[in-house]
Amino acid sequence: MASQEIEALASVLARLPGLGPRSARRVVLWLVKNREQALPALLDALGTVRERLVECATCGNVDTQSPCAICADPRRDAKALCVVEDVADLWALDRSRLFAGRYHVLGGRLSALDGVRPEDLNIASLLARIEQGGIDEVVLAMNATLEGQTTAHYLAERLEGFPLRVTQLAHGLPVGGELDYLDEGTLAQALRARRPVG
Ligand SMILES: [Zn+2]
Repeated sequence: MASQEIEALASVLARLPGLGPRSARRVVLWLVKNREQALPALLDALGTVRERLVECATCGNVDTQSPCAICADPRRDAKALCVVEDVADLWALDRSRLFAGRYHVLGGRLSALDGVRPEDLNIASLLARIEQGGIDEVVLAMNATLEGQTTAHYLAERLEGFPLRVTQLAHGLPVGGELDYLDEGTLAQALRARRPVG
C-alpha cells in the first residue's frame, strides 16, 4: 500500500481534468522518479500561477494582468466581440489568429442537466459591454454540442434589438465538437465562414 503522502498527492491530481485515479498514480510515480529534474520547474510554474495569474475583469480571460493583454491591446478591433464558453476556447481561437477583435468568456454553458442557468454565466457583463456601444459584430463561438447550441440560441435572442450583426461559427464543426480539441485549420475555417444567426 502506498504511503499517506503519495495517496494525498494522487487524490489531488485525480481531480484534474483528464486524469482519473489510475493516471494520477502514474503521474505521482513519475514525479517521484524524476523529482530532481522535474519538480523544481513544476513548483516554480505552480507558484507563478498562484501568485500572478488573475481573471480579466473585462472579458474573463486568465492573464498576469487585468485588463488582459488582449483587452489592453489597442491594435485589436474594438467593434468585434467573440463570445466563448471557456478560457480554453478563447485560447484555441486566438491561436488561429484569424479573429482580430476581443473576447467575452461566459464561464460555462446553459445546462438543464447540471442546473446551469443564465444568471450563473457572465451574461449580464456581456450585455453591459454591448450596451456601452461601439460593438457592431458579436460572434457566438459556442461548442457544437447540444448545450453549446442552446446557449447560442439563448444569447441570440437576448441580443435581438441591439444594432449589431450576430454571427456564429459555420457548421462543419464536428457535432459534439469542442473548440479546444479542434485542429487549427478546422477552427480557422469555421471562423472564416461564420454566418448570421437565424
Ligand atoms: Zn480581457
